[in-house]
Amino acid sequence: MVQAFVSRRIVTPEGSRAGALLVEGETIRAVCEADEIPLGARRTECGNAAILPGLVDTHVHLNEPGRTEWEGFWTGTRAGAGGGYTTLVDMPLNCLPETTTVGALETKRAAAAGKCWVDWAAWGGVVADNREHLRALAGAGVPGFKCFLIFPGCEGFTMVDERQLEAALPEIAATGLPLLVHAELVGPIEEAMAGMAEADWRGYRTYLRSRPDEAELLAIRLLLRLCRQYRFRLHIVHLSTALALPELRAAKDEGLPVTVETCPHYLYFAAEEIRDGATLLKCAPPIRGRANREALWAGLREGVIDLVATDHSPCPPEMKREDAGRFDLAWGGIASLSVALRVMSTEALRRGFGLEDIVRWMSAGPAKLAGLSEYAGALAPGREANFVVFNPNTEGVVRADELQTRHSISPYVGELLRGRVLATFLRGAAVWSERGFPEGPRGREVRV
Ligand code: ZN
Repeated sequence: MVQAFVSRRIVTPEGSRAGALLVEGETIRAVCEADEIPLGARRTECGNAAILPGLVDTHVHLNEPGRTEWEGFWTGTRAGAGGGYTTLVDMPLNCLPETTTVGALETKRAAAAGKCWVDWAAWGGVVADNREHLRALAGAGVPGFKCFLIFPGCEGFTMVDERQLEAALPEIAATGLPLLVHAELVGPIEEAMAGMAEADWRGYRTYLRSRPDEAELLAIRLLLRLCRQYRFRLHIVHLSTALALPELRAAKDEGLPVTVETCPHYLYFAAEEIRDGATLLKCAPPIRGRANREALWAGLREGVIDLVATDHSPCPPEMKREDAGRFDLAWGGIASLSVALRVMSTEALRRGFGLEDIVRWMSAGPAKLAGLSEYAGALAPGREANFVVFNPNTEGVVRADELQTRHSISPYVGELLRGRVLATFLRGAAVWSERGFPEGPRGREVRV
């Protein structure tokens, strides 16, 4: 059966156009003029709502198996579907076991079976002592690797120091897969903390002072040096400090294989506006000041920042310690899968960007990072029919009951955001619409 989704604005790799997205079975057949729709095709009128390729989020903590009381495949992929995502790539930590061996990856696959509303993949972890597992993980289908240069917040997933990282890099380079790095160094953070014994940890400024720009800056400098030496595909996750942009720009100009991501919360919130005790906004690296935020937008405009991923990292409400309001005690992580497209529309469109830019940052760019460009990231003939119907010309206040996540907590609740996800389609069938979840969980793992 052929379906025709008719819209005034279909965002394709060649730009936006009016017409119809033709879907045959599970695949995109063409984007055509409205008068070229084949006879007998089932028409869906989308009117002024835009059709975008399904979003791809390469930075999600689903925490399953092992910590499903934080999130999980069922709730996390429902939040993704509701937010316009059709592919999520899960981070290798916070789950138990951590995804650092093929055995752990198989355990994750078994845990995911029958629970996913959108497609997923899993990054492999690089920890202090699993170098000999990396090629096997690559062979087993992970799209790349993730490591930390600092304590990641959970025991079990060890950080790597420079020497351990150097030992792993030839293995990683040999796979041709990207290494995603949490780029903060311990040194500058310890230095900052040294004088803070008496600090008031309810204050956001205290937390911000404890994670200085230099921690990111020095980590990125180290990574660029190693990238030059070992020629692995380096990806900086959740860039927060705009001070690193000139060096990242120079590295790209030099031809180093480096890509950069930032997150909606760094582009939306600003330190000056964060109330003391507002621990829902704790994340690492931290949300910095207004001028930094605007410089990150400039980094996106210039293309130094390649993509926007959520770093969706939920936890049970009590771990946010809103009662005490202390930033040193609260879990760091922000849940945003279900609202990230609205957040980005709110901020990008008023800065003169278009939906085409949002698609580049949130679909094509992440798909490329994860090696999924043949499958996702564009409305083009032959790709799987994964797309989202999105009305950017409306606004609404975020309600806790629309988040779809296991716990209805997010700093975006109560925020007035632009845009509305009307429906999300996976392989030609709606996996989410404003009426709810019309199909069963039909997501599957995508392997590179
Ligand atoms: Zn993360």
